[in-house]
Formats: sequence, structure tokens, C-alpha cells
Amino acid sequence: MKRWFRVFIISIFAIAAVSLVVLQLIQTRRTFSINDNMFSVGVSSAMDEVIKQLNAEVMQTGAQPISSFNFQELDSLIAEEMLLSGIEAHPIVGLYDGSQGSFLYSSNPKQEDLLEVSPYRYAFQPVGIVSSNQLFIILAFPRSKFELLDGNMYLYMSLFLVLVIAVMFVISLRTIANQHKLDQMKNEFISNMTHEIKTPISTISLACEMLQDNSIAQDTENRSNFVSIIADENQRMRALVETILQSAKMSNKNFSLKLKEIDINPIVESVSQSFKLTLNNRNGMIETHLNAVPSTLFADELHITNLIYNLVDNGIKYSPDKPHIIVSTERLNGHFIIKVQDHGIGIAKQDQKHIFDKFYRVSTGNVHNVKGFGIGLNYVAQVVRLHHGTISLESEPGKGATFTISLVG
Ligand code: ADP
Repeated sequence: MKRWFRVFIISIFAIAAVSLVVLQLIQTRRTFSINDNMFSVGVSSAMDEVIKQLNAEVMQTGAQPISSFNFQELDSLIAEEMLLSGIEAHPIVGLYDGSQGSFLYSSNPKQEDLLEVSPYRYAFQPVGIVSSNQLFIILAFPRSKFELLDGNMYLYMSLFLVLVIAVMFVISLRTIANQHKLDQMKNEFISNMTHEIKTPISTISLACEMLQDNSIAQDTENRSNFVSIIADENQRMRALVETILQSAKMSNKNFSLKLKEIDINPIVESVSQSFKLTLNNRNGMIETHLNAVPSTLFADELHITNLIYNLVDNGIKYSPDKPHIIVSTERLNGHFIIKVQDHGIGIAKQDQKHIFDKFYRVSTGNVHNVKGFGIGLNYVAQVVRLHHGTISLESEPGKGATFTISLVG
């Protein structure tokens, strides 16, 4: 996916998500305000009825001082009328003396402050009550936490759902990006492999053409030269195919190791020997410090050999000057340690965490000049994992790299 397209998709999604939240907010507010209006209308009509009834009552009983007013009856009358108007909430009731600025009665004195700020106030001046003051019946509806939660529930739910969609969106984008990266790596792998196979094929066909020429083939030295070129190139192709095959085999779930008691020190020695010629040509050297005694281990011989081979091969490949490789073995706290150290270009911190990923190759500096497929270290890590061991890397750019493998045994 192209970068501009990703930015475009993310922006569209962000705008849509924000708009959705804003619309939800507006809708929730609108619903609240409609509910509030209906509630206020219901309370007003109930209170009209209450006041009408109170007036009728005091008209019957005649003039009385306010002190003899039955406040309990006021409470139950209001509760009754509220229910008849379809309002289930139980209000706090207060009788407020407007000219004194104080409450003559409150059904819940602890919550008088709610009454003071309540918008539900109704003038009350029954003719039969002896009072020169202006009276108000004030109602307050304390909202329970549950009611508040209930009211905001839709909003919280929509916010939560938007969040879930956003997380899913990010996960999908990351998956697409990873897929894209993997695709790129695979393409690079295929083009590398084609290149690597084409070179020996053309060298072999050239050598064959030479051998077909009688004048050249009759010369024994020439002939053996060309035959050894063919054998070398053939060996190179076989090693290449072998690496790819082994790596593919390892990825198979049914893959199992062929475990037996093997002697590691001689394996290290023989792998080192096989690189002697290459190292001589490049004025390099390989040292072995085989300190593990005994050096026998229960492991898969083929894969452990390949593992050491891969690490030494990398050490040489990524040492642009004279390669200097040190391979050591030792026993430490019940573990068998194999170390492969080089003094080459090293690996930067940010690449170290990806180095064991399949097809991963460091793509900076002159590393691309070195041929490879990015599967060697992944194979090494898989071999170590199947042996229940660990692999670690210490490296600094320009100072070389040390791979340490720790196997149980
Ligand atoms: P490749 O076939 O590319 O060598 P590997 O899986 O063996 O694949 O290594 C992955 C990448 O890790 C290499 O492309 C290289 O960038 C880096 N790397 C591996 N070993 C070393 C080393 N000893 N020194 C520096 N870089 C290394």
C-alpha cells in the first residue's frame, strides 16, 4: 500500500470516527433535552393539580396560621400527583418563605442546597392560610448515580464502539503493512536466488562449451581445471538449494530432529577446515578455542553442523577486510556454549531485533554488496529453538559481531 494512500485512508477514518462521536453527542444531548422538557411539563401539570387541591382544602377549613399547615400531607399529595402524571422520581419537597429567604419546611433538610438551586419552584399563596409572606413550593429531583449512568450509557457505549473499531482498524493496517513488507522481502529473495543460480549455471555452461572444444579438452591441465570449476559451481548450487530446503523443512510443523550423542569439538574443527581455502584467498584466519570437556551433546548432527557453518560463513561474508573469526566451545553451569565471533561490519542496534526474522537483510551501507537470502540466521534460530536452547547477539557497528548459543546438556 502506498504511503499517500495509507495517509488518505487514515485521515478518512479519523474524520469519520470524530464525526460519528460528534453526531452521537448531539443526538444524546437532543434526547436529554426532549426528556427534560417532557419531565418539566409533567411536573408543572402535577404541581398545578397539587396547588389546586391545597387551595380547595384550605378554603374548606377556613383561615389558619401557617404553623398548623400539614406538611406531611403536602409530601404525600405531591407524590400522588407525580405518579398520576407518570413521573416515577421522588422529589425533595420544600416550602420556601420568599421574604425571609429561608425554608419553613423541607422533606430532607440535608439536601436543602439542592432545593435552593432547583428550577422547579411554584408560587403558593392559599387564601385560607394566614401569612403575609410570599411562599413557594420548591421541588428538587436528586439524580441517582444509576440514573446518570443510564443517561450517559448510550454515549459511553458509542465511544467504546468507536474505540473498538479504531483498534481493529489499526490492527488491519498493521497487518496490511506487514504483508506488504513480507511481499517485498519475498520478491527480493526470489530475485537474489535467481541471480545466485544464474551465475553458476552460466559458468557451468561456459566450462562445458570449453570442454566440447577438442583443442582445449585434449590438454589435461585445462580439462581438469574446467572439470573442477563445474564441480565447484555444482557444489555451490547444491549448498544453496540445501539451505533453502532445510529452512523450508524446519517451518513444517511435523519436523523433528534426529537426536543422538554427537561430539561438537570435532564438528567445529571440520567446519573451520572447510573455510581455510576461502580464508587463505582473503588473507583471513580462523581460530578455534575448544574448551568444552567433554564435548559430547545430545543433538542433531546435520543441523548443528549447518548452524556452525552458517555463523562462520556470515562472519566471513560480513568482514570486508581480512576476516578474523574465532569459534569457541565451553561448558558453563550445565550449558554447552558455542560462540562465533567476527571483527566485521557489525550490526546496528535497530537491526539486531529483526536479524533472526525470515528474509530480513540489513539494507544500509555496503551490506547489499554481499550476496545472501536472509534465511541463514532464521534457520540458525530455528535449530536452536528446536534444541530448546537460546541464541544471543552482541554487536557494535564497525566492531564485529559475536553470536552465543547456549544448549542444554
Ligand atoms: P544472508 O543470507 O543475508 O546473510 P542471514 O539470515 O544469514 O542472511 O543474515 C541476515 C542479515 O543479518 C544479513 O543480511 C546481514 O545484514 C546480517 N548479518 C548476519 N550475520 C552478520 C555478521 N556476522 N555481521 C554483520 N551482519 C550480519
